[in-house]
Amino acid sequence: MSRTGKQTNQARREARAIIKRCVGADEDDALVFCGNGATAGINVIICKLQIKQIVETVQRRNDCQQKELDEERKSEDINFCKQNRFGSFDCTLCRVIFASKNAFEVHSQTPIHKQRVEDFKKSLITY
Ligand SMILES: [Zn+2]
Repeated sequence: MSRTGKQTNQARREARAIIKRCVGADEDDALVFCGNGATAGINVIICKLQIKQIVETVQRRNDCQQKELDEERKSEDINFCKQNRFGSFDCTLCRVIFASKNAFEVHSQTPIHKQRVEDFKKSLITY
């Protein structure tokens, strides 16, 4: 090692000791020199703690949960009861016509309609 290299290493050791003493760090603490300014230090911490990967994983999980919620909401919001031009009410899912909205409501509680709603919801989920 050159004389200049030895001097530089000694200066770094002294600087490290001074900084550690100033911030109250001891032998259990690591002092990492990393370029200029706080941004460089924060970037090193982000890299070492893999914060970026953690944030991306959490973001992906949130996106997935949001997608599931959107699909649920979408299927709940679908109204299968449509009034036709004659004033009757069609179940657009079962393709049955009812004279009144009340009759449709009764129909909507039948097992066959409920099963078709479940089948429809399953068909919406594409992943
Ligand atoms: Zn129906």
